[in-house]
Amino acid sequence: MSGDTIFGKIIRREIPATIVYEDDRCLAFRDIAPQAPTHILVIPKQPLANLSQASPEDGTLLGHLLLVVKTVADQEGLATSGYRVVINTGRDGGQTVDHLHLHILGGRSLEWPPG
Ligand code: AMP
Repeated sequence: MSGDTIFGKIIRREIPATIVYEDDRCLAFRDIAPQAPTHILVIPKQPLANLSQASPEDGTLLGHLLLVVKTVADQEGLATSGYRVVINTGRDGGQTVDHLHLHILGGRSLEWPPG
């Protein structure tokens, strides 16, 4: 169900992570190198490398991931203060792990535009 990346290993519990949410389709855990007071990654359990690889059949899953972002952000107390959702995609997007992931960043004021 999960590809052979570090995130696949987290899904299969082969390496530890601080998991904050899980359901049958996805997992959310704290980023190991947080860039904000709250920095959480939401990933699908199915091995989709990145947004560029998504097809129309993935629409329901992608919608679910966004709703899980909202659930986790609420759980983390970010709903009022706000937060940023980032999907780094491919080389120019700065993606370093080839397993789709949505960053949730919050707990401080974030600058725009990003570097
Ligand atoms: P990206 O640069 O968008 O591909 O993001 C990958 C993210 O995964 C980075 O923010 C890393 O800090 C994070 N990361 C890498 N390995 C782990 C790990 N074992 N546990 C939690 N987060 C990780």
